[in-house]
Order: sequence, then C-alpha cells, then structure tokens
Amino acid sequence: MNEFTITLAPELVRLKRKKTEPMEYNMSSPKLYKNFINGEWVESSSGNTSENRNPANTDEVLGIFQKSNADDVAAAIDAATEAYKKWRLVPAPKRGEILYKVAQRMLDQKEPFSQQMTQEMGKVIKETRGDTQEAIDMTFYMAGEGRRLFGMTTPSEMENKFNMTVRQPLGVCSFITPWNFPMAIPSWKMMPALICGNTVVIKPATDTPLSVANLIQACHDEGIPPGVVNMVTGSGSALGAPIIKNPNVRVVSFTGSTEVGRKVSEACATDFKHCCLEMGGKNVQIVMDDAKLELAVDGALWGAFGTTGQRCTATSRIACHKDVVEKFTSMIVERARKLKVGNGLDESVEMGPAISQAQLDTVLGYIDIGKKDGAKLLTGGERLTGGDYDKGFFLQPTVFGEVTQSMRIWKEEIFGPVLGIAVCGSLDEAIAMANDTPYGLSASIFTQDVNNAYTAMRDVYTGIFYVNAPTIGAETHLPFGGTKETGNGHREAATACLDVFSEWKSIYVDFSGSLQRAQIDNQ
Ligand code: NAD
Repeated sequence: MNEFTITLAPELVRLKRKKTEPMEYNMSSPKLYKNFINGEWVESSSGNTSENRNPANTDEVLGIFQKSNADDVAAAIDAATEAYKKWRLVPAPKRGEILYKVAQRMLDQKEPFSQQMTQEMGKVIKETRGDTQEAIDMTFYMAGEGRRLFGMTTPSEMENKFNMTVRQPLGVCSFITPWNFPMAIPSWKMMPALICGNTVVIKPATDTPLSVANLIQACHDEGIPPGVVNMVTGSGSALGAPIIKNPNVRVVSFTGSTEVGRKVSEACATDFKHCCLEMGGKNVQIVMDDAKLELAVDGALWGAFGTTGQRCTATSRIACHKDVVEKFTSMIVERARKLKVGNGLDESVEMGPAISQAQLDTVLGYIDIGKKDGAKLLTGGERLTGGDYDKGFFLQPTVFGEVTQSMRIWKEEIFGPVLGIAVCGSLDEAIAMANDTPYGLSASIFTQDVNNAYTAMRDVYTGIFYVNAPTIGAETHLPFGGTKETGNGHREAATACLDVFSEWKSIYVDFSGSLQRAQIDNQ
C-alpha cells in the first residue's frame, strides 16, 4: 500500500476520524518548527532559523522557524509535482471527505489555534476566533464542493452528439500569504485548490508561520497524503522567485500589498501561469444625513479599529454628509478615546498592537503626513508607552477630521488604526469621493433611503459593498476581491474561486458514427 490508500481504503473515506491527541500548545519554551515537505517536518538545508515573537510582548518567543532557501522550495515543488499524479485522480467526493475531517479537527482545535494566532499577530481573541472560524467555514464549504464542482451539459447543434464541460486541475499551486488573516487567507487558497485536485506549496508571511503550521498539521493529521500540501517558511524576497518561476508551478495565488503583487504578476506573465492577486484597499464608509448615527458610529469603529486597522477591508475613510458631520465626528471621537488597547488575549481588550516595529513606524509616518497636509488630529496619534505597552507595538486609535481628497491619508493605504473624516454635500459627491482611489476593494453606505442605497450599490466601483454595515465582514460563500489596483479580476471564496484552481475542458462526444462538421453540415 502506498500513501494514497485513501482512494481505496474504506476507513479513510468515511468520516471516522483518528483519535490522536491535540497538538502541544505549551509556549513556555520556544519550539523549533520545520518546513513541511512530502508529509514530513524537515529542517531547511540553509541551516538558518528566525524567531517568531509576540507583537504585544516582544519578550515572548512563540517558536523558531526555518529561514528556507531556494533548494527547500524546489524540494517542496518536486514533492507536490509527484503527489499531483495521484491526487488528481482521487474522486473529488473522496477529497471532500478528507476536507470534512480537516474542518472538524480545526473546529476541535479552534480555541488553541485562535489563542496562538493572537499571540502571533496581535489581533484580539474574538477576532482570531473569527479568523479560525472562517478557515473552518471555507474547509467545510469546499468539502461540500467535492460533490458539486458543477460543469455544464448543453445540446449539440448536430444530431447524435453530446456536449459537456468539466473542470480539470492544473497541477502545483504556489501560495504567498500575508500576516493579517494568517489562517483564513491560506484556507481560501488551499481548500479550493485541493478539492479541484491540485497540490499545494505555501509560503506564509514571515510574521505568521505558526498559524499556517497549525493548518498544515490539521491536514496531515486527517490524512491528506504526503506531498499534497507543503509549507516552506522564510522571506518573500528570497523565496518569491523560486516559488513563482519554477516551471512545474501552474498557479500562483498571492495576497499582500499591491507593490509586491505587481512583481508577482510580472513574474507569472511570461510563463502564462494562472495568477490570482488580492492586494491593497482604501475603503470608504459613506454616512448620509438620514443615517442612524449610532449605528454608523458602531460600524466605523469596528471597521477602522478592528484588527488594529490592519485589514485589507478596513474602514480608513469616511465621507460624511455636511449636515451630520459635526455630530458624527464628536460621537466617534468620544468612542475612539474609550477603546481599550492591550494584549488581545485579555477578553476585555478591544484593540491589539501593530504587527511589527516597521508597521508601527509606517503608521506613525502617515500620522505625521496627515498633520503636515493640514488634517485636524482629533484624537490619538501617538505610540502607547509605559508598563506592558513598552513591550509591544501599541498605538492610540487615531481620528483625523477636515480631511480632503488631495491629502495622502485620503488616498494611500495606511494599514493601521487611523480614520480620516471628510465632508460631502450630496450622494453624488460621496460616490465620487469613494471612487477617488487607485484601489477598489470594499465600501459601505449608512442611509435609511433605499434610493441612496441602490444608487451607491450600483455606482461605487468596488468588489464588495455593504449597506448599513461596515466595510468589513465578508462571508465565505460570496466572492471576495477587488477592482482596480486591488486585484486582477479573479475572486477568492464562493464558487468563483474554483476558476482560479481549475480550467474548463469542453467535451464533444459524437455517437453518430459518421463525420459531422459543426457550422458546415447543419446549414
Ligand atoms: P506584503 O506584500 O509585504 O507581503 C505579502 C507576502 O508576500 C508575504 O508572504 C511576504 O513574505 C511576501 N513577499 C514579500 N516580498 C516578496 C517578493 N519580492 N516576492 C514574492 N513574495 C514576497 O504584504 P503584508 O504586509 O504581508 O500584508 C499587508 C498587505 O496585504 C496590505 O496591502 C493589505 O491590504 C493586503 N491584503 C490584501 C487582502 C485582500 O484580500 N485584498 C487581504 C489581506 C491583506
């Protein structure tokens, strides 16, 4: 029997799960984590490692991770290439049955996974539970897709001829992922790729390899065969080219900044690889004069300061109607001042730290730019210091008023807890302001007028739009992605993501026994 007995062994194709012990979550001494290649945890041939520290308490080392090199990437791609030969032939419903078990294991381990995620990247525990849940949802969803993966049957224009379409996998898929949704985003890529019959090599963000290691371990524990999923940790600049340019890689799925995404796109273009890019955002919340202001303030606070503003869909701009801007601004400033900032493992904390010193410096830099450009700093604007704050990268929730469209803080992605409020005089003006950005990920409107809502839904050019809800809050069964410099036309999640990880094959079966020429013989 080889490792692909899942295609044959009935005990592995039913939902009987192995009774293995949960993984060890003792973080008192840092554990050495390895790459995962061909079903085994292995050290990098570079011999180099790096520490993964808690951004809320940099004294805490969560693990030591491999600083991999091009040889490690090549080994992972070789394993994935070999595994593809058999995985592609495993019936999709059987692949789905394994994914059901992976999802169930993740559900069993939701709390430790989420706690480790908070320690690893700082967002508060309620939100990391949401991140883990999103990965669970995606895994269950794609498991079910194993019994769908619908194609099309359609009549032929000829007699005695049958036409249909099927999805075919492509081969090895490479993933490059960011740190802000360290389990959800990898699962958005991995689960659809696997259900379609592809194999996977993932390079997690350097700040969040632990959450991906947990995801990989869950796959391994529940019987995903060796070589089907592989993980190589290390820096993007060192591993980017080897993981993208390898000729056996047919799909590259990247989530991260527009700057790096552009390089990924260029590297894929010459080899005609499928390339799915999910990149930056500069998301606006419109507040009309008839909005329920309490609700609009709740939405803006959650959208702007959730995940410390480090979401691609974070609310970083408000276009507020002139008749309510004074009231709205004073309400939001009052609430922002009261937000409890601290270590996200404390259930009462509402906002965690920035991911790193570099990110903190970027955000403080934008706060300076905002002040210099003439925006009015209404609250926040400083790094938090003293006591436990000194051990982490904590910032005050920051609100600017009197922001105008010419300012950089209106146009550029900040990726931190900074909200800019600008004034609009009408819906048309608000829509023009919303569209005044190179990005096109998410937007929202707060209004009680159905005409306003539908007009904005139609005319704001983004991939995601909310009515009377913040700019964040995507669900896994709707397409996720953005227009303009946020994406390159693909979508993650929903069934839309299957188009990234499969290619259509149109099949014509002629059972007439004679040559029939389309467009010619039936005229
Ligand atoms: P980043 O672009 O710095 O890094 C993303 C990934 O790319 C990391 O794994 C990194 O190691 C790798 N990388 C870096 N340089 C590379 C190179 N030269 N070649 C190949 N890979 C390289 O982004 P980040 O700081 O991790 O994440 C924040 C950005 O991600 C923000 O712009 C945010 O809007 C965006 N984001 C977008 C979405 C979306 O779905 N649209 C979701 C989350 C985050």
